[in-house]
Amino acid sequence: MTRAVLTLNAGSSSLKVGLFPATGDAALATGLADRIGPEGVLKLKDAGGTPIAAAPGDISTHAGAVRAAIDSFAALYPDLQILAVGHRVVHGGDRFEAPVRITEDILQQLDRLSPFAPLHQPHNLAGIRGAMASFAGVPQVACFDTAFHRRHPWVNDAFALPREMYDEGVRRYGFHGLSYEYVTSRLAEIAPHLAAGRVVVAHLGNGASMCAIQNGRSIASTMGFSALDGLPMGTRCGQVDPGVLLYLMDQKGLGAAEISDMLYKRSGLLGLSGISNDMRTLEASDRPEAAQAIDYFVFRCQREVGAMAAALGGIDALVFCGGIGENSRLVRARICERLGWMGIEIDHTRNAANAAVVSSEVARTTVMVVPTNEELVIARAARAAAGLTEDAA
Ligand code: ADP
Repeated sequence: MTRAVLTLNAGSSSLKVGLFPATGDAALATGLADRIGPEGVLKLKDAGGTPIAAAPGDISTHAGAVRAAIDSFAALYPDLQILAVGHRVVHGGDRFEAPVRITEDILQQLDRLSPFAPLHQPHNLAGIRGAMASFAGVPQVACFDTAFHRRHPWVNDAFALPREMYDEGVRRYGFHGLSYEYVTSRLAEIAPHLAAGRVVVAHLGNGASMCAIQNGRSIASTMGFSALDGLPMGTRCGQVDPGVLLYLMDQKGLGAAEISDMLYKRSGLLGLSGISNDMRTLEASDRPEAAQAIDYFVFRCQREVGAMAAALGGIDALVFCGGIGENSRLVRARICERLGWMGIEIDHTRNAANAAVVSSEVARTTVMVVPTNEELVIARAARAAAGLTEDAA
């Protein structure tokens, strides 16, 4: 009998699926359904990362993609027993500080948060409903991207808007919490003296943010009310003056849907370069617009490391994660280039090797690369919901 938990991470047109054993960190299999719709494709890998064939299925909906992934996993492990399902949910509002076992009442509470994350929350909830239908009676757990930040000090939770806006939920929630939780827990294992100190974690992927963490607790984050704020991203704008939005509405006559499309899908690295949202493509390009997009990304990262360090009253470690943070030697080196004033000095040999520690021996501030693993955080929550402890299983 293969006893396992399932992790689901549903985006607007994608779905990441993970199958994890009752104990241990390595996935038994993973899947990514992309372009969910008429042209949907499902790609799967086994425990060793080798691609495996997907079972025939309909990838036109999230529920269909879940079904096809499960059928594929069952073909790989014919005696598979799913003990619990963990879901990534983007928004837990001001209430959820930890993963929660999903009931109909919880689902309704989460649905009421949909206006705060209209592009993501409904898809997350659709994924939950699909899994509840497929696995009746199996515990389902919601893991929130906002939860890690819930105990921000008030000054990092509020906007200077009329007070009633705060009361109605217009707050700096912060996101990427599952990634920060993983990196924090990993840091506690590999560098406990740093984990106990002041750490700035830079999650630089297609989505990008930074988090200021003191002794494991999130103090500030570059993302705020939505996943648009802070750093520029693949296609998202990062911080913009709200006056720009007023201008777009008043003078250009753009409506909310058009502005949303611009800010989420046509800005960031893609908007600035006019070439690609993908850092690898920009690094390989010799066009000046690609260089400018990278310059802007690097500069905003430098600024925000400074801001996060200020929120912490200093910095003991800077940790990179996410696709860019874990792989781009160029971006890491360039960000660190102008941070010597805060004791940061990169070792170029270590950096070229994507080593765990990429700062020089004499640097006052340690710079690290810690590959993130949001799926494992979800799997751990699902195990807990299934009553599995590392010892009991
Ligand atoms: P998501 O936020 O969608 O999970 P990822 O964390 O996978 O995204 O990050 C994707 C980004 O990482 C892309 O911009 C990609 O170009 C970048 N990336 C991945 N590998 C490299 C590399 N070797 N060098 C530079 N950038 C890389």
